[in-house]
Amino acid sequence: MTILHNLPTQDLQALDAAHHMHPFTDGAELAAKGARVITRAKGVMLQDSEGVDILDGMAGLWCVNIGYGREELANAAHAQMQQLPYYNTFFQTSHPPVIALSQKLAELAPGDLNHVFYASGGSEANDTNLRLVRHYWATKGKPDKKVIIARKNGYHGSTVGAASLGGMSGMHAQGGLPIPDIVHIDQPYWWGEGGDMSPEEFGLARARQLEAMIHEVGPDNVAAFIAEPVQGAGGVIVAPDTYWPEIQRICDDYDILLIADEVITGFGRTGNWFGSQTYDIRPDIITTAKGLSSGYMPIGASILSDEVAQVIDHGGDFNHGYTYSGHPVACAVALENLRILQEEQIIEKAAADTIPYLTEKWAQLADHPLVGETVNKGLMAGLALTPDKAARAKFASDPGTVGFRCRERCFANGLIMRHVGDRMIIAPPLIISRDEIDTLFERAVQSLDETLSGLK
Ligand code: PLP
Repeated sequence: MTILHNLPTQDLQALDAAHHMHPFTDGAELAAKGARVITRAKGVMLQDSEGVDILDGMAGLWCVNIGYGREELANAAHAQMQQLPYYNTFFQTSHPPVIALSQKLAELAPGDLNHVFYASGGSEANDTNLRLVRHYWATKGKPDKKVIIARKNGYHGSTVGAASLGGMSGMHAQGGLPIPDIVHIDQPYWWGEGGDMSPEEFGLARARQLEAMIHEVGPDNVAAFIAEPVQGAGGVIVAPDTYWPEIQRICDDYDILLIADEVITGFGRTGNWFGSQTYDIRPDIITTAKGLSSGYMPIGASILSDEVAQVIDHGGDFNHGYTYSGHPVACAVALENLRILQEEQIIEKAAADTIPYLTEKWAQLADHPLVGETVNKGLMAGLALTPDKAARAKFASDPGTVGFRCRERCFANGLIMRHVGDRMIIAPPLIISRDEIDTLFERAVQSLDETLSGLK
């Protein structure tokens, strides 16, 4: 198959800049520099149009959990496209792949999360959640319970609803967000915002902001709290241990629904199938996407508890759905992905071997002169770049510049490591081996060294 494969890189870049609008990209910078064109991938390695190999420390966008190049998934898509490439799930219709995937998700998801509503990705799934929790309370005779509490610097996607739930100031600044009846509390980011408190004190204090906000809004007006078990796009922010138990207590005490956005943490990222298991929380709804198909097909899903589903089921038509809700090819590919994750025990093996290995090596990076805190939860990790470790200081001028430079050094050294401001983050495919982790670290350290010498 040839899709412009014979064109030289410069021509591809020129066509790309002329016609392709990129997400989260400065268009002028893109036109000046040209996009990096990725042409193939296998395992944890990408190759660009110049034939350069790059270790993908981000599993694409936190999604290629089983690694690139698994033919079984291509075969599943091929077979399903031949049998039934599309049919919808509206108006009481269904098909075998969506039925099988729903059964599998009910089996894998914790507790009584047994009911699945599909979307094409995480943003759409969160939009579903927004409408669903309000409809849930209205159906129960409490239409005023519609405010959703979320967190600053949380990320829940890019649609109007999901970006409103998110707490990214840069996103709210564009397009008049957030929409009404969504409020935000502070994030549990101890290294950056903890001041003189111990991490334990700070975790409790930040959790209790939820309680304070519930009082401010009025408990009878609050529908739900939404949060990522570990904030991903916010910079891999791992909450202190005291945080989640207190959040769970507050949600229980005030009868508000807990939505765990597991778009990143789902399907093994934190060393268990779901981040909710890692943190021992009992969400009413889990948002999933990304690792559900390991990124091979666009698919997202809201997984609901028995109670939530029962109320929705008895509330008449839920006037919501997407053309591609439960797309048969996406479902078939997701099922095959889950089969591989389960049968090859990819999550269990990572938990027993590569997660402890990466945890130890990542912690050692704290000795680097440019590095402040290092944190990880399973195979998602973050570190803060700092001019002064002891003071937990941030770079005074142009936040993000040093992080950006470090990311560029990583690129040059054959490693995808992302920057969020002046935090560097990784989330490699779950199948990464010890040798590949060694390579990742060699390239990361070299890039940190080069970033540091560039500052002198
Ligand atoms: N929720 C979380 C926690 C995410 O990290 C993301 C994407 O990064 C989303 C939702 C949005 O998912 P999508 O980009 O598939 O719409």
